[in-house]
Amino acid sequence: MRYSYAAPLALSLLFANSAQALTVDCGHLLDVKSGKWRDNVSVVIDQGKIVSIDAQQPGGAGDHIDLRAYNCLPGLIDSHTHLTDQFGPTTYSDQFRLNPADYAIRGTVYAKRTLQAGFTTVRNLGDSNNVSIALRKAIDAGLVDGPRMYTAGEPIGSTGGHADPSDGYRSDLAGDPDAMHSIINGPADAWKAVRQHYKDGADLIKIMPSGGVLDESRSVDNPQLTEEEIKAVVAAAHDYGFTVAAHAHGAEAIRRAVVGGVDSIEHGTFMDEQDMKLMKEHGTWYVPTVIAGETASAKAQIPGYYPPQVASKAAGIGPKLIDTLGRAYKYGIKIAFGTDAGVYPHGDNAQEFSYMVQAGMPAIETIRAATVNAAELLKHADTLGQLAPGYAADLIAVKGDPLQDVKLLQHVEFVMKAGTVYKKP
Ligand SMILES: [Zn+2]
Repeated sequence: MRYSYAAPLALSLLFANSAQALTVDCGHLLDVKSGKWRDNVSVVIDQGKIVSIDAQQPGGAGDHIDLRAYNCLPGLIDSHTHLTDQFGPTTYSDQFRLNPADYAIRGTVYAKRTLQAGFTTVRNLGDSNNVSIALRKAIDAGLVDGPRMYTAGEPIGSTGGHADPSDGYRSDLAGDPDAMHSIINGPADAWKAVRQHYKDGADLIKIMPSGGVLDESRSVDNPQLTEEEIKAVVAAAHDYGFTVAAHAHGAEAIRRAVVGGVDSIEHGTFMDEQDMKLMKEHGTWYVPTVIAGETASAKAQIPGYYPPQVASKAAGIGPKLIDTLGRAYKYGIKIAFGTDAGVYPHGDNAQEFSYMVQAGMPAIETIRAATVNAAELLKHADTLGQLAPGYAADLIAVKGDPLQDVKLLQHVEFVMKAGTVYKKP
């Protein structure tokens, strides 16, 4: 008897849940395209997607989430993260103590922090040993709470350059990393490295056409890939449907990357007028990462925090980046939000909005950079970056109007990714 009662009850519950979609009632909801708020709307969600957004009906059917005291926005997208690393004073020596599994386990914690901060999607631009590909798989399988990840796996660069994992090692430890380990010298290596990324399960390609701040080599801005090598990476990437992100600080490296056909310039610190003109012509995106520059400049003041070579490069980067972003915005370059998360503490991503406003961007433009623009850069503008029917149910909420005070985005109180709630007020 017990079972004959229990079974129909369980079935009816199941039926009720699947038949009645979830509804989120928002006090205000941002249409990022128009920059206008819609008041008192209900977002109906089914199978992880938005079905409809209409005026609130009192006492509507199904499960309701009450966000009538909140402002709802699309889930945020960070176009430049390193979810499996967290920079600190022991980073350089950690490489000799930690295994890939250590970075992987830490990555699960950083992924959760990122999602809790309101970032429902990230473009991950570099790891070691493809640890981020394992993290993406665990998130996709629902084993780990984290943002939807598109990851480049290991970055591709040249011998002794910003991607060379053995920079600064003594010679018997340094070895000679090759295309199998993402270090290329010549177009044939470029093809090999991109194809290896396809085999490894990467979603896109990250290259290092210029020096960088945090590696133990002399120059932050020298060109480290030839135009020929960049063109080979881009041609190979296109065969496999990959986009290409280019870390580039120096003007010449930026020029080569843009002419070479990359999709985005990351950091772009010493971008000159010619670079901007070319970027506009080629429709190249700019991902500024001001918070990383500011953090590096601040930490460079702490004696011993960075090795001396790194400290001298880091000191001037922050103020320069914010100036470059201001000029690029005025010039009309397409800007996508990205932070270089991992250079500063994971979860603080939204501080970038304030830096972007400081650089001269209106708040709505900074939010577009982190939603519709970032989705377009990912080539997922038809499913991500907006609250509209047919889009992924990625929705965050804050108390107050972030168009008036963009700092409110540092206090996200509700997070939903693909219809699942990860944070509630
Ligand atoms: Zn980076």
